[in-house]
Amino acid sequence: MSMVLYNRVAIVTGAGKGIGAVLAKVLYNEGAKVSLWDIDVGLAKKVAQSLDPLGNHVLPLEVDVTHEPSVQEAVKKVVEKFQRIDILVNNAGISIHKPIEEMTVEIFDKVIAVNLKGTFICCKAVTPTMKKQSYGKIINISSLGARTGRPGVGVNYAASKAGVIGITQTLARELGPNGIYVNAVCPGPILTDQTMQYPREVFASWNVGRAIQKDGYPEDVADAVVFLASDRSDWITGVSLDVNGGILIR
Ligand code: NAD
Repeated sequence: MSMVLYNRVAIVTGAGKGIGAVLAKVLYNEGAKVSLWDIDVGLAKKVAQSLDPLGNHVLPLEVDVTHEPSVQEAVKKVVEKFQRIDILVNNAGISIHKPIEEMTVEIFDKVIAVNLKGTFICCKAVTPTMKKQSYGKIINISSLGARTGRPGVGVNYAASKAGVIGITQTLARELGPNGIYVNAVCPGPILTDQTMQYPREVFASWNVGRAIQKDGYPEDVADAVVFLASDRSDWITGVSLDVNGGILIR
């Protein structure tokens, strides 16, 4: 069995739980060395320990993606331990949904800070290393919520994730000549510990119109990320790949 990411060095932000924890696991199982970043480092350490108890091929770090010095420090530690950075998955994200009348500027800014500014800061921080290598694969986790109005999605979240697509397209052009690929994945509703807490009919309401009957799991997102992180996608950059079972077909 060949591992498509053998010996690649990957960073996954928000790797402490949910989709990010599964992304870290699947990248690791494909042969990558993985640095697991999370604002809750206890969670990241637990996931890292479950993958590689000796810690040779994992590096959990406490990182707040909204804080540039914290991100720069973490990049330094990854390069110190693993010598390079091949893959960055910008997965850390939050959602605080409110109707527009209750959407305070503070709540708006909070979601933009993590989802949009955090993605910018992490992309910026790995760029010098990836430029030196003339190689890099950046994958930004956007959302179906950025592509079309969806029930249960706040304007803050939609704006942040649409902004992530803007960063993806612009950076793909800017860094393409340096051998750096920048793509986005737009998951539809994914069953994680968090979304499983909603009543099934609420989750089902987010899936109305879906072509494929199967619900979405973190592994479905991970498969798309592995493809975009591997050399199997070497003529693909600047795309936003919909991973939603055919909720959005146009
Ligand atoms: P989650 O809440 O289960 O996990 C997010 C992780 O990010 C947590 O471990 C959290 O501690 C971490 N995090 C939060 N703020 C951070 C910060 N400032 N710095 C570093 N880490 C931080 O979320 P999830 O459902 O697994 O979602 C992961 C990504 O996928 C998010 O970007 C989300 O918007 C996107 N997404 C999720 C779904 C879904 O249905 N779950 C659908 C589409 C897109």
